[in-house]
Amino acid sequence: MNRATVAVVEDNPDNRLLVEAMLGERYLLVEFEDGISAVAGLAEVAPDLVLLDISLPGLDGPGVLQAIRVDERLAAVPVIALTAHAMQGDRERYLGMGFNDYLTKPIMDEERFAGVIEMHLGERIRRAS
Ligand code: MN
Repeated sequence: MNRATVAVVEDNPDNRLLVEAMLGERYLLVEFEDGISAVAGLAEVAPDLVLLDISLPGLDGPGVLQAIRVDERLAAVPVIALTAHAMQGDRERYLGMGFNDYLTKPIMDEERFAGVIEMHLGERIRRAS
């Protein structure tokens, strides 16, 4: 079976390297460094899941999410918010915006990180079948 494709939208190169180190052997990773290029390129990539930084130059994570949800090619893709500035109530706020899940940076627990991704990929596969 082919590896799932995970799009990583993250402007911080160190964080991209960390994600590559943690997920690079499990998934095919496609990276975008800002929100505008993500919106321009995501439909072509047709990812199985998107990891989306909240704080991005140009177009922020919630803006990218909106563009994903109104694009019928992408609307059903699970999108996981990543944020370095965890605040009380964030989880509810981001889930309310339409993110499927929410993780705080720095990501420390590789197994948990991969576990959350696997859970959402599994739900997507179950919905599609
Ligand atoms: Mn950022």
